[in-house]
Amino acid sequence: MQAHNGMYIDGDWRPAAGGGTIEVVNPADEEVIGAVPAGSAEDVDAAVRAARAALPAWAATPPAERAARIGALRDALAARREAIAATVTAELGAPISFSQAVHAGLPVTVAGTYAALAAEHPFEERLGNSLVLHEPVGVVGAITPWNYPLHQIVAKAAPALAAGCTMVLKPAEDTPLVAQLFAEAVHEAGLPPGVFNLVTGLGPVAGQALAGHEGVDMVSFTGSTAVGRRIGALAGGAVKRVALELGGKSANVILPGADLARAVKAGVANVMANSGQTCSAWTRMLVHTDRYDEAVELAAAATARYVPGDPADPATRLGPVVSARQRERVTGYIRTGIEEGATLVAGGPDAPEGRERGWYVRPTVFADVTPEMTIAREEIFGPVLSILRYQDTEDALRIADDSVYGLAGAVWAGDEAEAVAFARRLRTGQVDINGGRFNPLAPFGGYKQSGVGRELGPHGLTEYLQTKSLQF
Ligand code: NAD
Repeated sequence: MQAHNGMYIDGDWRPAAGGGTIEVVNPADEEVIGAVPAGSAEDVDAAVRAARAALPAWAATPPAERAARIGALRDALAARREAIAATVTAELGAPISFSQAVHAGLPVTVAGTYAALAAEHPFEERLGNSLVLHEPVGVVGAITPWNYPLHQIVAKAAPALAAGCTMVLKPAEDTPLVAQLFAEAVHEAGLPPGVFNLVTGLGPVAGQALAGHEGVDMVSFTGSTAVGRRIGALAGGAVKRVALELGGKSANVILPGADLARAVKAGVANVMANSGQTCSAWTRMLVHTDRYDEAVELAAAATARYVPGDPADPATRLGPVVSARQRERVTGYIRTGIEEGATLVAGGPDAPEGRERGWYVRPTVFADVTPEMTIAREEIFGPVLSILRYQDTEDALRIADDSVYGLAGAVWAGDEAEAVAFARRLRTGQVDINGGRFNPLAPFGGYKQSGVGRELGPHGLTEYLQTKSLQF
């Protein structure tokens, strides 16, 4: 399973300066499947120095040449598809079919979009008597979570490299093995030493050292709002650029004229995918009071098809959650939902039958959820759906926006124009209309406490650029 024993710094694999390691555990059977170096501030410093040294040459490399290297990276990732899928299934617990399609497939697509964008992007523009240069921000410190471990790396690395930045990545401690596969692909793609560096380690140690390093010009973070807030404060204090992709509690608004069966089925699938560990998951389903009971029945029936099982089995649709800590957190929220008076219509806090080993959670649906309940307000990050009732469209809008988050959402209506009119009024970064497909070029990111900045596509690229104006 394990690709490498070291951290990838300045084009080479090396152990942590302090010699420490972090074990990686398979959430399906609790077996240790590998270990990675526990990087310290010293390792972060070595990586940042390598990135700084590599910056002038990479920033000066013609965009077409950077695009060619990103294209080669895309190919190297595509060649590792099977290993990537197997690794993500082993360290995250995602069902292998989902790992193949999404965890391994999406990063190839995203890297491909940046191979094209790096070549096409207008890095210079004329404005009156000025020539405006769009230059790389500099050295990027990227800190990523475990839930879409490779996608979140590529969503930062590909645009940063396309922009001409160099970088140091600190991936999540639960899923570091796929980050090693990414570094291996970078090496094979022929990126010059120091352009991309990988430091594995704990968040409060290696992550904090990276976010606070004076040689880092921009911090790009994806993870919890609690840690994001701290990183934002640290970056603000040092007057550094910061991008934050944080949590969500997105609303799936089913307007009265919608195809209810389709909307509920898609809504349940959206929440159960990746065991509910998706920041943009539509965890609040909003249904008109006249169709509420029918929707609850449909949701319970749809949920019954998600039987927790071995993620290595191609037939499995729902694996475990990533860690014992995450299972505690999710089952704690399920208990809170029951205590606060929501009606449990599927699942519950106990381990699924026959799945006492491994960190499995029953796919859970709550009805009679009111907007003030904890399960309607806080991000659970597990396979738990809350169904709320609304009286009319204004009520639906008020409930949908009654959140500190604003990352994603969905609107379903009989008439597309009606859904679009509603979506225009929502305070959230993305809205899927009547089951609109994920678009890897569309800007992704949050309103309110869901974050600062956007990832993916051309908007994701401009995050890593700064401007200089020359007047004539
Ligand atoms: P987390 O915030 O605990 O960890 C994320 C990363 O930050 C990890 O690499 C971790 O090691 C590091 N980290 C932890 N403490 C740190 C510190 N003090 N200084 C620097 N780095 C530190 O989050 P998580 O539990 O790994 O991920 C789950 C969360 O991420 C959820 O809340 C989810 O919504 C959010 N998320 C958001 C998006 C998005 O795009 N908006 C995507 C995925 C996940």
